[in-house]
Amino acid sequence: MASIYDGLFDLNVRKACVNCELDLTKSDSADGPAVFLIFVLGALLVPAALLLDHIFSPSLIFHAIFWTIIALALCVGMLKPLKSYIITLQYTYRRSDWDETENEDAETDTDHEKNS
Ligand SMILES: [Zn+2]
Repeated sequence: MASIYDGLFDLNVRKACVNCELDLTKSDSADGPAVFLIFVLGALLVPAALLLDHIFSPSLIFHAIFWTIIALALCVGMLKPLKSYIITLQYTYRRSDWDETENEDAETDTDHEKNS
């Protein structure tokens, strides 16, 4: 299965889809994946840390190491799937980003420059 990313650890999207040659330079996920991760993981990890502390009362150094590893793993592991999902949402619900480049005289905004 082909990826829309250049490399395994690269968050840059390819210029075009390998399968359908969709122009992926029009995709614009911006800060969406990072913001989504901050809100969701912050809301989940802090109560989890409090619960773990309440039940097992581990030392503070355990919390520092354990939750750093968990948070980093979840962030790194979920960034690509979330970015892909947000690009999919953009293509599904804001198709005009792709359509307006085919007929340049469209009156909609064209400030979506190429992004990462
Ligand atoms: Zn495709």
